[in-house]
Amino acid sequence: MLKYDAVVAGAGPAGSTAARVVATAGARVLLIEKRARVGYPVQCAEYVPALIASEVDFGEKSIALAVGTLVTFFPDGTVTSTPAPGYILNREVFDASLAEGAVKAGAELWLKATVEDLTDTSLIIRQANGRRQEVEAGVIIGADGPLSLVARTRGWPRATLAAAVQVEMALPEPMQVTRVYFDPLYRGGYAWVFPKGKTANVGVGLVSGEITPAAALTHFLRRLGWQQQNIVRRTGGLIPVAGPYQEVHRGRVLLCGDAGGFTHPVTGAGILTAILSGRLAGEAAAAYLGSGAPLATYEESWRDLLGPALARGQAGRRRWQEEWARDGAALSKLLRQTWMV
Ligand SMILES: Cc1cc2nc3c(=O)[nH]c(=O)nc-3n(C[C@H](O)[C@H](O)[C@H](O)COP(=O)(O)OP(=O)(O)OC[C@H]3O[C@@H](n4cnc5c(N)ncnc54)[C@H](O)[C@@H]3O)c2cc1C
Repeated sequence: MLKYDAVVAGAGPAGSTAARVVATAGARVLLIEKRARVGYPVQCAEYVPALIASEVDFGEKSIALAVGTLVTFFPDGTVTSTPAPGYILNREVFDASLAEGAVKAGAELWLKATVEDLTDTSLIIRQANGRRQEVEAGVIIGADGPLSLVARTRGWPRATLAAAVQVEMALPEPMQVTRVYFDPLYRGGYAWVFPKGKTANVGVGLVSGEITPAAALTHFLRRLGWQQQNIVRRTGGLIPVAGPYQEVHRGRVLLCGDAGGFTHPVTGAGILTAILSGRLAGEAAAAYLGSGAPLATYEESWRDLLGPALARGQAGRRRWQEEWARDGAALSKLLRQTWMV
């Protein structure tokens, strides 16, 4: 059986960051990714706040457009502008650069390799050649996204998920701001236009409701008056919206990123929190491997760094669930109290 100090499942932002941190501390790390190419296909609207640059190194090529302002369209017809400096990423390039960082730090990356099963100390991995390989691990880090096999196999319940659909389409005119649109129909969610230069990511995410996400997107494109023939790419995916699990470590298994529920419960943004929780999980794993420090230090460190913001998001999400209104004025009032607070 192969042996590693740490095995990380999933080479998204959370897993690549965790793998880089543990490998930098000198541990033998295996990073497992089921896709053939890290970060492809992209399933994301690609907005990150500017402060991400203080957390990770990424080159110019990872950035499609720098943006400064978020314009929010409320159901009662009011429109607000909020400073929201950030970037629309080229996520394919961004994710690949994070994985490259992990490999440069010494992690071994297996592509087209899928974690199929695990115990507290070992994993069954189906490799690119179809063979099943058993691997022993000192620590297992589950960074395998919203449908995390690591979490489900080790007894965590299925997360509450929003469903999102998105198209990338040619922009009728240049746009420098991000736009978010609320509508009573998009229950528990919203629609967005995030410009990338000549094109924009245009999508809708919702939790449940009278219409499917696909029907909501058709409704939204009609509202914008934009033509379906300008669509160049379609994507979509699932977003955890209930906040992190009460505990994100059990035995020798740690969860980070979407696998642990580390997205903002109101906005659904999860790239920065994936990187931050990945770093903290990596630091806890490195301390455990290096000096036997309890892995439970991860619970303290993520609560210190991310707890208050995510708890505010959870409170907002609960209100959206209970108070979402069909009436535009009532819904706008709720949104002003819970959106970007
Ligand atoms: C439509 C959409 C739009 C979004 N827009 C934004 C946005 O604008 N800004 C933002 O901040 N967030 C956004 N998000 C959320 C963001 O994409 C996620 O929060 C982020 O990708 C989480 O990173 P992660 O590393 O935890 O997981 P992921 O990026 O999902 O990476 C998990 C990786 O694990 C791999 N994997 C899964 N299972 C296995 C397995 N069994 N074995 C091996 N590998 C496995 C997957 O292939 C994947 O590469 C959006 C999400 C969606 C769906």
